[in-house]
Amino acid sequence: MATKKIITVFGATGSQGGSVVSALLKDRTFAVRAVTRNTSKPAAVKLKEAGAEVVAADLDDEKSLEAALIGVYGAFVVTNFWEDFNKDKEVKQGKTIADLCKRLSLQHVVFSGLENVKKLTGGKLEVLHFDGKGLVEDYFRKISCPMTSVRLAFYYENFLTGCKPQKSKDCDSYDLVIPMCNVPMDGISVSDLGPAVLSILKNPKEYTGKNIGLSAEKLTVAQYAEIMSKVSCKVIKDAKISPEDYAKLPFPGAEEMANMFRFYIMIPDRDVPLTHKLNPETKNFQQWLEENKEAFIKVL
Ligand code: NAP
Repeated sequence: MATKKIITVFGATGSQGGSVVSALLKDRTFAVRAVTRNTSKPAAVKLKEAGAEVVAADLDDEKSLEAALIGVYGAFVVTNFWEDFNKDKEVKQGKTIADLCKRLSLQHVVFSGLENVKKLTGGKLEVLHFDGKGLVEDYFRKISCPMTSVRLAFYYENFLTGCKPQKSKDCDSYDLVIPMCNVPMDGISVSDLGPAVLSILKNPKEYTGKNIGLSAEKLTVAQYAEIMSKVSCKVIKDAKISPEDYAKLPFPGAEEMANMFRFYIMIPDRDVPLTHKLNPETKNFQQWLEENKEAFIKVL
């Protein structure tokens, strides 16, 4: 039996990498080398039990990254801005990986990128967790490392955590606090990333060198709220908050998130038809919410 090509998957214990590992293991075309900083944590043990080779590596430790990338055909790379809220650190991690992938002659890297908003807007707007990933996208291209960038839309899963509806003052209803000023916002379940990445890895000629904006569909905040109300049987409304007021909310990263929504309002750039071509089972918001109804009601 021919040996399978290996894909190193970064962030394997997290949302994006976890989705990619699960799609690759299910499909079985590729073997999976899953990266974590701690191979004994429960999520890593689960990956091993599911059939992945689990290796320890740290994005801040080049030697460990080299060991994780040696001998593989390709990689899925995701960096986590929110770990340190530090653009320079995220760029350094991304460039280190890009250099290694080039030096070790990887044939295809799928990088979880985003737009360089600062460059696109001529410096008018900065979104640190986007800009850094945009710089890394450019760097992969500059050093001619074969790479496809997947730019994910807002995860639906955010509605279960940091962007869950907030109890209104009268406690009778809930407010969906997303400052989109009636402009439709792209969304996707992060669990639908894996099959899309698999399609990209299976079709390198078609997708290498491209930036692919992944989105299941675009809905206004009022439409998201309407579907939430229908599925949960609670009253959930668009809070109609402005980006200016959102930036002042008392949580770490509020201004950074407000800037992200400002960018979503200016240049919505995700490719819904291509997303469904890459992963025909991509769920729209209502389907996702119905599947996650119990978890959603629990967080309200
Ligand atoms: P996540 O679920 O929090 O998982 C983070 C993963 O990164 C973990 O597997 C962790 O592995 C790994 N990791 C963190 N620091 C590491 C390091 N120094 N070395 C090696 N591995 C490290 O995160 P995610 O949602 O998959 O990805 C986060 C990224 O997605 C962010 O940069 C964000 O900007 C981007 N994004 C988010 C959205 C959204 O709507 N939320 C949309 C588009 C893009 P271990 O802890 O096991 O080592």
